[in-house]
Amino acid sequence: MGCGVAKCDEGYLCDVCGEEVERLTESELYLRFVAGWVDAETLHTTAERHILCNPTIAQFIVSDHFSHVEIDGPFDKRQLDPAYVKERERLLTAAWLRLRDIEGSEGDSLLDYPLEEVLTRLREG
Ligand SMILES: [Zn+2]
Repeated sequence: MGCGVAKCDEGYLCDVCGEEVERLTESELYLRFVAGWVDAETLHTTAERHILCNPTIAQFIVSDHFSHVEIDGPFDKRQLDPAYVKERERLLTAAWLRLRDIEGSEGDSLLDYPLEEVLTRLREG
């Protein structure tokens, strides 16, 4: 798929900074996949980037294991509706912790990556 480029076996490059996205826990694409925002069919045609290269998403991951991210401007979560922020934090923090689990355990099928709540939703249609 689109592998005419020499970069092909170096993995996916971040479309913001141009550096390789080396780890699952750095991948904004997989974070969104686990959170149910990207489906498996479009996973490989969607742009990859570092989570930290997209601070509007990174700011919602609240974990001692993740860099604390703050942004200024209209997308700053401190300016947003608290209920919305709370739900975003819950979902994206759970999704990121899931990525961490997956990274530590080899052999999970890609289709098992998403959060349980996402899988349930998919099963129910
Ligand atoms: Zn990047």
